[in-house]
Amino acid sequence: MENGNIAHPITEPVYTRAPYWQDVPDEKWMDWRWQMSNRLNTVSELEKVINLTDAERAALNANDLFRVDITPYFASLIDPNDPNCPVRKQVIPTSREMVPFQSMMEDSLAEDKHSPVPGLVHRYPDRVLMLITTQCASYCRYCTRSRIVGDPTQTFSRKEFDAQIEYIENTPQIRDVLLSGGDPMVLAPKLLDMILGRLRAIPHIEIIRIGSRVPVFLPMRVNEQFCEMVQKYHPLWLNIHVNHPKEITPELGAAMDRLTRAGVPVGNQSVLLAGVNDSVHIQRKLVHELVKIRVRPYYLYQCDLVEGSGHFRTPVSKGIEIIEGLRGHTSGYAVPTYVVDAPGGGGKIPVMPNYVLTQAPGKVVLRNFEGFITTYTEPIDYDPHAIEAQEKLIAPRPEPGQEGLLKLLDGEQMYIEPEGFSDVRARGGAEHRLRSGEISQKWQPLGVGAIESQEPQALEATTETKESA
Ligand code: SF4
Repeated sequence: MENGNIAHPITEPVYTRAPYWQDVPDEKWMDWRWQMSNRLNTVSELEKVINLTDAERAALNANDLFRVDITPYFASLIDPNDPNCPVRKQVIPTSREMVPFQSMMEDSLAEDKHSPVPGLVHRYPDRVLMLITTQCASYCRYCTRSRIVGDPTQTFSRKEFDAQIEYIENTPQIRDVLLSGGDPMVLAPKLLDMILGRLRAIPHIEIIRIGSRVPVFLPMRVNEQFCEMVQKYHPLWLNIHVNHPKEITPELGAAMDRLTRAGVPVGNQSVLLAGVNDSVHIQRKLVHELVKIRVRPYYLYQCDLVEGSGHFRTPVSKGIEIIEGLRGHTSGYAVPTYVVDAPGGGGKIPVMPNYVLTQAPGKVVLRNFEGFITTYTEPIDYDPHAIEAQEKLIAPRPEPGQEGLLKLLDGEQMYIEPEGFSDVRARGGAEHRLRSGEISQKWQPLGVGAIESQEPQALEATTETKESA
């Protein structure tokens, strides 16, 4: 213990750098602006630190290649002689990146389709994704937003940015804003400060989140000034993006130490990538190393169906196998939620092994991570309505049009049918005596939806009529 605080083992940074940069003074090496202006992006620059393969060289010389830029710090984590190095595969292109594959899309999550204004994705009821730049510190070969990321001409204008803020100001159902891009942490510090300030001034914004890979590509950006700045805007959360334990260095640990001491809860999102981290043992090591630097594994993403990512994709069963190998085998705190971000824009869908084997009224049969099978006996006197008086004290948050299955559970609706469902089943037939608009009440379930608003006496009367019929 030190001054009442828990001592952290990482006090002095240990500088990770390739021999090529050994003579760079520490002040420069630890200056994020120096790192940004000395990024590697050409064959000749990369060859100074990495022995490139023919496939890598071919890709780097190709036209229309998704942008390449690698910070000297992150390049120093690459094994210069191993084409299978998991860090290398994430940032150095190979010719496999140019191979199209079935179901590949430019915008596989339909983000642009679900943007009320450019760069603002409003997919879920209470939160938005705000894209504030297209620039990153280094570029990941599997990037979901490669359609805009890295391209300065796609960067959001001041007018578009104002429109994003205006939309948020005028939409009180939004309580959570996630800043992403590109990478918000490459923005000029004053600009990021201004954006956070404008968001914090909106009364209905409860939390602000930043999604950033900068702490991983450029841990020196998480300096004292940055930490002081973000502290003004609490509650502020931050998610980093680490895919392999090799990326967890003393520099990243020190950056996370500064950030968590500034009161920022930090999570990690990784992408499941073939040849990088598609292994139970690598993932277990990754989550253990993350919690050691106080970063909570948050999501493990299935790789999206996006251009350039074909060779990184794994079957979904690989993700399920990884969760099988984590849940129960390590602390629940270290287990991320494995999600498939729905192609077409349906949002994140959690996927996991089956733990419920079967159920009957009063009993659920479950299995644990070892295959131990047990039963949970449910209460027979449980009253789901007993909470209602307390529930009424909490104002419900509206989710217009996005209630989903909750609508069925709440008794507002009995079923959900795809668009055109009834028309297809009508088979083009004309209205007839059994199917006219006047008698449509016969498909109205008693006590569900519209009839629910009837007085209890009216419901009883309807019941009696049915019984006597
Ligand atoms: S840091 Fe994020 S936005 Fe930037 S290239 Fe990587 S995945 Fe894409």
